Amino acid sequence: MRIRTKNLKITACSWLAALGATSLLASDASALIVSRLTPPSELFATNGASATPIIARFIPYQRFDLQATIRPDAAQTITSATFLVDGVVVPGSVTLAPATVAGLPANTVVATLRAYSNATVGVHALSVQAVQSDAATVAANGNFEVVAISNLGRRTKNIIIMLGDGMGSGHRAAARIMQNGIAQGKARTRLAMDTFPVSANVTTASLNSIVTDSSPGMQNYVTGNKSANNQEGVWPDDTTANFDNPRFEYMSEYLARTQGKKLGVVTTSDVFDATPASMAIHTQNRGAGTGIVDQYFDDRGQTGLTVLMGGGRKWFLPNPTNCPDVDCGTATGFNGSARANSTDYTLPADLIAGWGSSAGALDPARDLLSDFQGVGWSYAATENDMATAPNSQPLLGLFALSNMNIALDKINGRRAASTIVDDYGFPDQPMLDEMTAKALSVLDAQSPNGFVLMVEGASIDKQAHNMDTERFVLDTIELDRSIAVAKQYAATHPDTLVIVTADHECAGVAVIGGSQVTDAALQTRIATGIGAAQVRSGVVGTYDAAGFPRYTLAADGYPTTTDIDYRMLIGYAANADRFEDWRTNPQPLRDSQQPGNAVAPLTSYPAGPLNRDVIGNFQVTGQIADAVAAHTANDIPLSAYGRGSSLIGGTMDNTDVFFSIMQAAIGGAK
Ligand SMILES: [Zn+2]
Repeated sequence: MRIRTKNLKITACSWLAALGATSLLASDASALIVSRLTPPSELFATNGASATPIIARFIPYQRFDLQATIRPDAAQTITSATFLVDGVVVPGSVTLAPATVAGLPANTVVATLRAYSNATVGVHALSVQAVQSDAATVAANGNFEVVAISNLGRRTKNIIIMLGDGMGSGHRAAARIMQNGIAQGKARTRLAMDTFPVSANVTTASLNSIVTDSSPGMQNYVTGNKSANNQEGVWPDDTTANFDNPRFEYMSEYLARTQGKKLGVVTTSDVFDATPASMAIHTQNRGAGTGIVDQYFDDRGQTGLTVLMGGGRKWFLPNPTNCPDVDCGTATGFNGSARANSTDYTLPADLIAGWGSSAGALDPARDLLSDFQGVGWSYAATENDMATAPNSQPLLGLFALSNMNIALDKINGRRAASTIVDDYGFPDQPMLDEMTAKALSVLDAQSPNGFVLMVEGASIDKQAHNMDTERFVLDTIELDRSIAVAKQYAATHPDTLVIVTADHECAGVAVIGGSQVTDAALQTRIATGIGAAQVRSGVVGTYDAAGFPRYTLAADGYPTTTDIDYRMLIGYAANADRFEDWRTNPQPLRDSQQPGNAVAPLTSYPAGPLNRDVIGNFQVTGQIADAVAAHTANDIPLSAYGRGSSLIGGTMDNTDVFFSIMQAAIGGAK
């Protein structure tokens, strides 16, 4: 209710004038008001009370939509709406569409003007004026800023963002300790990300919370604007449709449009997942998988998409019966498709006209693999396919039905030490460093004007949620090996900027110390089944008792075993209830995204952190009421290398990083 008074009503209705402001609030169901003005601004949110210039920011010519939600008086309708910037009417058509979210007064409309841009640097006043059917008018005011780009030096040609999902300082420290160890108080060998010369401390709040999810966490870096949790490349609106929200232009779209740059998206998750989609897709619902993957293909001309690799084949396979559940067809030759009308997209006419986007269609029977291949893309279903794909063609790699297996399980599969990858049905999945090298080869061959590449270590987050220590640490090592590949590319292609960062911290990970016992002794203690007296006391070593855990790396770059004597121990601050025995979990937790999740052998996996490690009977009570650990509002360490890294440093908001990258790409850096 706090947004009802943020406008000035000019009306002929004398009874309203007599009631005054307080009564206007009480009767606001019938009050003519502007209840939302987009882009968001503190000026509008506080009805002009706040002088703090907390406003949306853009680079010159970056496109974005103007939108207002307008509520008429009872029995009235809104007949027109006009947007003004700095007091001048913005040309172009304003579309009035019904507001469809529940609880709004009758005849509430959403007025939209698509794909506006402004080239004049500075703070601009934004206002909307609307007229209702009895000729009463209403107006509201906000603002936005256009940020200068200066000619500073040589431009950055290639931008590589290495995104450790959920990777905070705790995850980085754990990977450093496990990969190379500490001796005489110093890292024996630094992580690749530790060798980057420039660092920053990044704040990650979203538009609607101090704690972000992966959607704003990623897209804030590549749009310069804050979105709300679960939203990608859009601001909130008052319609229920997932794909019609007011948009703002991605780095990929801007640089494809103005410089002809290409885009690569590489992840170990399902490619529809929040981080990869937040490089290119505009939606208020990160879960709308069918529409998200369709937009990758349909709007590849706008984003420059040239490489797309990860899991997520389930969205690309046809589902002619529109079966709504990924497991509903397992008994009848089900092909693993998750395509469904409920997660697909169609766009309104004004959006298509303004942005030049594809219209979309509800088409569960679409064969998206064939669509990609039909326009000259290579398709890789395995590591072997990927390695042999020509660099001269765009590349689609889909190595699992949903999220790919985790580094620990992929490596154990390669060592013939476990069958987890066979349980998933995908024994030949690439490691992320191999995917990174291939993506760079393809982009290098096909991007004369440069590229934007995002590489995500996705399960650092997913396994930190699961409080599965060894799985998130090995995924952090896998990302670091990918960072070494990206750094090597930048070293030989000097107009390249590499940024290592995270969308947010996950789980409040902290290295709390080391085990005081051998692995054999730990197993003996677990077998007693008497909980903390055996599995905590005498085991968890803090301060001096932690010592220097020492793992041994195999030739493949990963520990020969993670069940060493005197192992590293991890705690979780944003934790759910779990049983803990400190030993490596033989199986990952069940992944609800996986088709086949409800059938053997995946049903043998533990359902949650209370279904694992139960023998030792040491339960750690969580602080949050959820099955798994949560994200935190902790700051993120960012590391940068290469052309443009001089523009990074200090404590930055994640949106600040966008303006540094765009300065480097457009105006150059010293
Ligand atoms: Zn997460």
